[in-house]
Amino acid sequence: MERLKETTALDFSNTEIAFADKSDRELKKMRWLFNMMSKQALVNFTSKLGMFAVKYSLPFAKTAVKNTIFEQFCGGESLLKSQPTIDKLYQSNILTILDYGAEGKSGEKELEIVAGEFIRGIEFAASNESVPIISIKLTAIGENHILIKKQTSEPLSDREKHLYEQMVDRLDRICRKAYELGVGVFIDAEESWMQVTIDELADQMMAKYNKERVVVYNTFQLYRHDKLAFLKESHEKAKSQGYMLGAKLVRGAYMEKERERAQEMGYESPIQPDKQSTDQDYNEGLRYCLDHYETIASCAATHNERSCFLQAELIGERKMPNNHPHLNFCQLLGMSDNITYNLAAAGYNVAKYVVYGKVNEVLPYLVRRAEENTSVTGDVGRELALVQKEINRREQ
Ligand SMILES: Cc1cc2nc3c(=O)[nH]c(=O)nc-3n(C[C@H](O)[C@H](O)[C@H](O)COP(=O)(O)OP(=O)(O)OC[C@H]3O[C@@H](n4cnc5c(N)ncnc54)[C@H](O)[C@@H]3O)c2cc1C
Repeated sequence: MERLKETTALDFSNTEIAFADKSDRELKKMRWLFNMMSKQALVNFTSKLGMFAVKYSLPFAKTAVKNTIFEQFCGGESLLKSQPTIDKLYQSNILTILDYGAEGKSGEKELEIVAGEFIRGIEFAASNESVPIISIKLTAIGENHILIKKQTSEPLSDREKHLYEQMVDRLDRICRKAYELGVGVFIDAEESWMQVTIDELADQMMAKYNKERVVVYNTFQLYRHDKLAFLKESHEKAKSQGYMLGAKLVRGAYMEKERERAQEMGYESPIQPDKQSTDQDYNEGLRYCLDHYETIASCAATHNERSCFLQAELIGERKMPNNHPHLNFCQLLGMSDNITYNLAAAGYNVAKYVVYGKVNEVLPYLVRRAEENTSVTGDVGRELALVQKEINRREQ
C-alpha cells in the first residue's frame, strides 16, 4: 500500500479531490442524508413507507424521495435530464455508464419498451463522448421464469420457446446497435438460478460482436466459489473461438438471498465461505485480467479500496499507461466518490454507473442503496466520515 502511494500518488483519503465539485451546501445535505441512512430502523420504516407512498402517488411522496435519496443516487428521470450529472462528472474526467433502472417489468409490451429504452441509451451514448457503455439486465428484457426454466433440464413449451426467442432477439438488437454505433454493453449478473442462462447468452453475444473490439461484457461474481475458474474458462473459450473477452468483475449483490435459498432447498450454497475468500478470488480475478489484457478488457466494478489500489498498483508495476483502454474502474453514482475522483485525478479510466428512470421505477434500486448504506454494512460510516472530514477541512 505505502509503496503504491509513492509510485502513483493515489490517496483515497484525499477529500479535497473527492468532493471538489460539491458546494458547501451539497456537502451538508450529503451529511444529513448519510446520517439518516445510518439509522437501520428508520431506513426499514421509510423504505416501506416510501415504496407505498410513491406507488399509490401519495402527495409529496415523490417530491420527498426526489429531493433526497434520488438526487444522491440517480442521474435524472430521463436520459436528457441526466445530462447535467453526466457533464459534471466529465468535468472531473469521470465517464458515465448509463443504467436504465426500471425493474420488475413483465409482459411482451413492457419488455419491448425497456429494450427500446436501452437502444435509446446506446444512441445517446454514441453522441456523448463521456458515455462509452450502457448496462443492461436480462431480467429487464425477458421473463424471469423463462430464464430460470431454461437453466433446468425441463423442456420449454411452445409458448415458452417463443418468449425465450423474443428475449434473445431483444438482446441481439441491443448488442448489434452497440456494435454499429461503437458503444459497449455491460450485461449485469443476477441470481445463480438464472445466471447459467445469462452466461450462455453473454457468450453468444461476445462471440458475435467482440471479434474486432470488446463490445459486450459479461459480469463475474467472485462471491461465488466457482467464478474465478469460470472467468478463466470463459477466457479460454474466447481465445479458442477468436473473440475478445469483456469481463466486469463484481463481488456480488445477492449473498443473503443465495444462502437462504440454498439452505431452504437443500443444495450446496454457491457463495464463498467467508468475506476473505471472496476478496481473495476477486483480487485474483483482477490479476488474471491484467495478465491477459491483450485478450481481455476488464472493469473493476467495486467500492473496495484495497481492490482498486491493487489494480492501480499492478498497472504501475507492469509499466502500463494508467488509462489503458482495457483496464477500467467503476463505482455507483453517489457512493465512494473518494475512490472515483482520486482515480480520475491520477489519470485512470474510471466511470460511475448513472442510474436513471422515473422515481417510481427506480424505487427498488433506491431502497437497496439505502439498505446497503445502513450502519450494518459499515459503508455509511465511511461515507459519513469522509463528508465530515471535508466539511471540517473547508471550515478550518
Ligand atoms: C459499478 C458496479 C456494478 C455492479 N454490478 C453488479 C452486477 O451486475 N451484479 C451483482 O451481483 N452485483 C453488482 N454490483 C454490486 C457488487 O456485486 C457488490 O454487491 C457491491 O459492490 C459491494 O462489493 P464491493 O466490492 O464494492 O465491496 P466490499 O464492501 O468489499 O464487499 C462487500 C461484498 O463482499 C461479499 N461478502 C460480504 N460478506 C461476505 C461473506 N461473509 N462471505 C462471502 N462474501 C461476502 C458480498 O458480495 C458483498 O456485497 C455492482 C457494483 C458496482 C460498483
